[in-house]
This record gives sequence, C-alpha cells and structure tokens, in this order.
Amino acid sequence: MTQAMHLILVIEDEPAIRNVLRVLLEAEGYRFIEADTAMRAEIEARSHKPDLLLVDLGLPDGDGLRVIRRVRAWSPVPVIVLSARTMEEQKIAALDAGADDYITKPFSAPELLARVRAALRRNVRGAEQTFVLQLSQITVDLARRETQGPAGEIHLTPLEYRVLECLARHLGSIVIQNQLVREVWGPERLGDTRSLRVCVKNLRDKLEPDPRKPRYLVTEAGLGYRLRADETAPAHESAQEVSQ
Ligand code: CA
Repeated sequence: MTQAMHLILVIEDEPAIRNVLRVLLEAEGYRFIEADTAMRAEIEARSHKPDLLLVDLGLPDGDGLRVIRRVRAWSPVPVIVLSARTMEEQKIAALDAGADDYITKPFSAPELLARVRAALRRNVRGAEQTFVLQLSQITVDLARRETQGPAGEIHLTPLEYRVLECLARHLGSIVIQNQLVREVWGPERLGDTRSLRVCVKNLRDKLEPDPRKPRYLVTEAGLGYRLRADETAPAHESAQEVSQ
C-alpha cells in the first residue's frame, strides 16, 4: 500500500488530541510526526518534508494561520486545518492562507480519514488536470467534455464544464466561492456568487441522482463547494454536509 509511506505532520498543542490522531493515523499505516508549537511545526516541516499537514489554528506561540502561510511560501504540501473554531471568517482565512481543507472539532474518525485520503490523492495526481469523473451512473469526461448517463449523452454548457474542472482539480476538498468565480468567470466578476449558485443548481439537476440532496456537488455553507466522485466518496458523511 502506498499510503504506508505517507508521512503526516500533526500540529496540535493538546496532547490528548495528538494521541487520538496518532492512534488513528498509525492504525491506517501512515507515519506520524508531531509538533506542539508553531515554531516546532516549521522546524519539523522543513526537516522531514511531510506529505500532509494537519494544523490546529490555536497554538500557544502563535496562530496556525501563520504556520500555513509560512509553509506555503516554500511548499505545495496539502494542509488540512483542524480546529474548534467554527467562525466562518476563520475558515475562509485558513483557506485563503493556503489550507486545502477544514475539519471542525469534534471530528469523526471516518470523516477525518476520508479527508486525509482525498488530500493525499489530490497531491499525487498533481498537475494532471484531465480525468474522468464517475458520479453514480453518470460518467463525465473532462478532457473530451463529454457526459454520458444511462439514457445517453447529457449536455453540459462550457461554463458548467469549467466549474466542474475547477472543483475536480481539488477533488474531495473545499473550493471557496471566490476562487470558483475568479477561475471560471474572471476576476472582474468577484463577488458575483449568484451566477455560481445558478450554475451549481443546473449541474445538480443534470448530474445528481437527487438534486435536492446532493451527493457529489456538496455545499459547504458560507464557504464554497466540494466535489466528490464515487472513487473518493467517504464511508461516513457528516450530518452537516448531507443537509446542505
Ligand atoms: Ca489548540
């Protein structure tokens, strides 16, 4: 198994949570290193070059956001924020600082592990931008811009494909609304989230088995969207995600 080789750096000042994470991640075959301060985190990140960072935002000697910004300056390593903070601004600030995903404590083990797998897989996929999405009975070929359902071809507009492509580059992770608008409609349309919402609604009508309960194109309230495909669908879905 390739994941046996993956090294995860956990940056968290609470020993009890570090221990839970150690047991959880080592049971899955990941290698584990830890840091309990922002300063230690940077040293460990530089000397061990981990494959993934799990970062708590509230650290005794500084903000986890600063750690993310400083690591981002020299590394594209996937970063998942792990924090008790529930304020939207904090989530957006963390994603803006370069985090790939966000998990709110208390977290469920299956959810955490699914996010870790998704972030690692995205990193391995790297610059490869074109691939095929399997969404239940529907196959979306992003390279050819062809979508096939059980009843034949499904027509998606160029804008709809561009939204899907942007989400697919971050498969399994959150993409914030402004990033989608900037990449698909352009920077002059920043703040125009209405067009995005309409586009997502149309995509759901075309691709979701039940558009009112999205399985693949999931809303992250106040933040943005997350695309899942069957290959990355987690075993457990949090109530927050399925209710959006
Ligand atoms: Ca803390």
